[in-house]
Amino acid sequence: MLQDVLSSKGVRSTSNRILVLRALENADMPVTLADLEVMLPTLDKSSIFRVLTLFLDHDIVHSFEDGRGVENYELCHNEGECDHHDAHSHFYCVKCHRSFCLDNVDLSAIRLPDGFVAQGLSFVIKGVCKDCS
Ligand SMILES: [Zn+2]
Ligand SMILES: [Zn+2]
Ligand SMILES: [Zn+2]
Repeated sequence: MLQDVLSSKGVRSTSNRILVLRALENADMPVTLADLEVMLPTLDKSSIFRVLTLFLDHDIVHSFEDGRGVENYELCHNEGECDHHDAHSHFYCVKCHRSFCLDNVDLSAIRLPDGFVAQGLSFVIKGVCKDCS
């Protein structure tokens, strides 16, 4: 239930929030604000953005920059508060402008210098996806 996803993250359900959450779930891949505007013709851009900002604050979504300066949003699949253990890398296709999750690329091998603490991870490979190549 979408309502349960929101309540498990400490967020009250509203119709706008449910609509945005459903769109993110149906997309099944990272989406941009512009994608969501197309998917949610009944909501204006600022309403969608407000919901996304709230979702980010509550770890309902994570965002990353896709390498052309555009934020992409995707659902967090951890319950409750998330310290971004689900961080993974992404692939951005320069032809169809879609972003893909690369869940099987192991990022735990990345070693930071002493004294550096990671708080998030944004790692994007640019190229051409299998549909476009
Ligand atoms: Zn998460
Ligand atoms: Zn492509
Ligand atoms: Zn992803």
